[in-house]
Amino acid sequence: MNSSDIKAVHKLLATPKSIVIVPHKNPDGDAMGSTLALCRYLNINGHKALVIAPNESPHFLKWLPGHEDVMVYSAFAKAADEKIMGADLIFTLDFNDLSRTGEMEESLSKAEGDFIMIDHHQQPSDYAVVTYSDTTMSSTCEMVYHFLDAIDTTSQIDAAMATCLYTGIMTDTGSFRFRSTTSITHKVVSQLIVSGADNAAIHENIYDTNRFSKLQLLGVALKNLHILPEYRTVYISLSQKELDDHQFQKGDTEGFVNYGLSLEGIIFAVIFIENKADNIIKMSLRSKGDFSVNNFARTHYNGGGHTNAAGGKSDMSLRKTIAEFISILPEYKSQLEG
Ligand code: 5GP
Ligand code: MN
Repeated sequence: MNSSDIKAVHKLLATPKSIVIVPHKNPDGDAMGSTLALCRYLNINGHKALVIAPNESPHFLKWLPGHEDVMVYSAFAKAADEKIMGADLIFTLDFNDLSRTGEMEESLSKAEGDFIMIDHHQQPSDYAVVTYSDTTMSSTCEMVYHFLDAIDTTSQIDAAMATCLYTGIMTDTGSFRFRSTTSITHKVVSQLIVSGADNAAIHENIYDTNRFSKLQLLGVALKNLHILPEYRTVYISLSQKELDDHQFQKGDTEGFVNYGLSLEGIIFAVIFIENKADNIIKMSLRSKGDFSVNNFARTHYNGGGHTNAAGGKSDMSLRKTIAEFISILPEYKSQLEG
């Protein structure tokens, strides 16, 4: 953060404020960890802060300290609109365009409070008075740690805040294995453990709480995996019927796409997931090295994200979406071939 942004934040937080903190729709560990940690810090420091999430968190995040106080916009839109209209300040965390909040976008774009963005995705939109954007960061949770360090002190990070921040860093770095994990990330994580984050318990809470039907669904996804060796690409699909047959719950398919990338020689993996309720195919895209799935998702799927992890959607049927995907690949042959 530069010194003028730090000054601006000091000014905005100089007196007690009504503050709303927003993660993106379909929140992940980084989105919920960062918003909950910041919310706790602000409440401890005399502000009235509240996390309003566009929709429900998956089951594996609901244990996070403070999660019970999250207001869910899709369930309490009217009350949430009042909070948003009454807010002096609105933090948006782990996303950089208001469209990432789904139905909340309209309400947020009418809000009169000042926005502060903390985010590590590429190409931030220009809606905040303070934009703390750093695409080299492992996670928004790591950025919240640096944000507190810059504006105040990290000594106020208690066990609950440390648990939230550790969770987001762990989930966004694939348990500290992605290229975005730096020596500074490890220093931050080390401090979070000192502050009370129980790393083994957090890992278990996130990764070892599967239902049998979810593992069976993973089996279906792996059976549906197709390899396109000439493009070093893998794609996986899951139809609505396959989801229904396995009592699909939100978050169940998180991480499935990574199995594609675990194949030797593969640098591009995509999962197509049919969503009949929204009439879309939701896609998660992952890559290794320089192949930018952010560009790919922006160009073809109205999406975005990071160089190596992005998302998007298609309005066509599952079959047509896959056929179109395969037809696009030749354009990228020079970037994908070995
Ligand atoms: P996931 O595939 O895990 O849903 O998302 C991977 C990354 O891409 C995350 O950083 C997420 O924020 C971003 N992302 C996922 N879906 C979309 C989308 O529809 N639009 C944009 N701009 N980013 C997305
Ligand atoms: Mn993130």
